[in-house]
Amino acid sequence: MTRKELKDCWDKVLVLMKDRVDQLVINAFLSPLTPFKLSEKEQKLYLYAPKESSYAFYQNSVKNYLSDLTECINVVFGRPYSVEVTEKETDQEPEDTYFAEDSLNPKYTFESFVDGPNNRLAYAASVSVAEGYDRRYNPLFLYGGSGLGKTHLMHAIGHYVSQKRSRKKYIYVSAETFTAELIEAIKNKTQQAFKDKYRKVDYLLFDDVQFIAGSEAVKEELFNTFEALYNANKQLVFTSDRPPKELNGIPDRLISRFNWGLPVDIQPPEYETRMAILKNKAIMEGLDISDQNLVAVMDVIAQSVVSNIRELEGSFNRVLAHSTLTGEKINLSLAKKVLTDVFKTRDSEINPSDIKKAVASYYKIKVSEMESSKRARSIAYPRQIAIYMIRELCPNYSFPKLGELFGGRDHTTILYCYEKIRDEVKTSPELKDIIENIKDTLEA
Ligand code: ADP
Ligand code: MG
Repeated sequence: MTRKELKDCWDKVLVLMKDRVDQLVINAFLSPLTPFKLSEKEQKLYLYAPKESSYAFYQNSVKNYLSDLTECINVVFGRPYSVEVTEKETDQEPEDTYFAEDSLNPKYTFESFVDGPNNRLAYAASVSVAEGYDRRYNPLFLYGGSGLGKTHLMHAIGHYVSQKRSRKKYIYVSAETFTAELIEAIKNKTQQAFKDKYRKVDYLLFDDVQFIAGSEAVKEELFNTFEALYNANKQLVFTSDRPPKELNGIPDRLISRFNWGLPVDIQPPEYETRMAILKNKAIMEGLDISDQNLVAVMDVIAQSVVSNIRELEGSFNRVLAHSTLTGEKINLSLAKKVLTDVFKTRDSEINPSDIKKAVASYYKIKVSEMESSKRARSIAYPRQIAIYMIRELCPNYSFPKLGELFGGRDHTTILYCYEKIRDEVKTSPELKDIIENIKDTLEA
């Protein structure tokens, strides 16, 4: 069975499960899992969790539905395989593994995307590109950290094109699939068909381009595809977890092409945007958002989960699912009970003034000196460390805001300090230790 067939079957299992458990349970515990192996010998369907660190959570949750799952699997697969959740995709794949075609997630549309200051340009550029070829954004290069909505926007472009501009052809492909497909084509000597497929589209939507760094053949092929499409005035869209210039292992000629359009970044959302995303979700789930208990839950989640929207939504889903399962009301105490891990690891209590105090006391200087304009190294260096640590530990503080915290310094100065320490940490284990020590005093 190919990977794609496996995935299709699993999707059918989830549809059947809808008759047995609430949709929220499916969203929270089952949809995030990805099937990767079917073992006849063990009579098991193997799935992996979205994040290695979360597999124990999924493994435990799935236990509650094992018998329902096996029954549904029996209907779809014709055999009552049991399911096993693993940490990550493990060992060798079944022999006949074949790459799965990538497809669009129906939920990832422009309508369901909440725009905020962190992603406004990326959103506007994506809409503009979807509406028509846009020279300013060709290629459109979207970059930013994990879980910030890059794939969502890319799928939204695909949906828009297929619904409103149906004469235009698009292909959505992840770097992983593109690679697998090319290797397959080389093996089967069907390279020409592969080239034709990617060169006859009006839109090439290429997700997670950072992953092509490993293979020369892939880099070469992507370069040629780029040239062919670009010269024919076709629209190219890329996503990446970092800006073009940081794409190590990707040839300069590709990197310079990624910079031809204007690369657009997506930053972690601010509190207001995080709240808006949760409200939007609550509305889609049919909840009453004037309920103050619900608002309090959304608030505490939006306060705690700051840098990844996938985790933000995931935490909320877990609370909703738990409430549906047990009949408990959605309120703060339920949220705290369900999300112990979230609240433990994210120390939302750490604030800039604690960090300043901790750094100052480590270096035996005064906080007021740190905020002053003194430039002596004995003051400037701790100041830079404090800036770095606040930026890392308090994601709500932008560079301009940090400038205010340090005697009204210009944000470019702050950025310089931050980058200086960030780079130094990478090469100096000693500095890393110092920072860890200061962090420990914060958490104590
Ligand atoms: P990335 O590709 O950047 O890692 P995704 O596009 O997969 O992130 O987004 C992760 C999850 O967060 C998805 O479920 C997506 O729908 C949701 N999401 C991200 N940004 C937004 C947003 N601005 N509004 C609504 N949902 C969002
Ligand atoms: Mg993505």
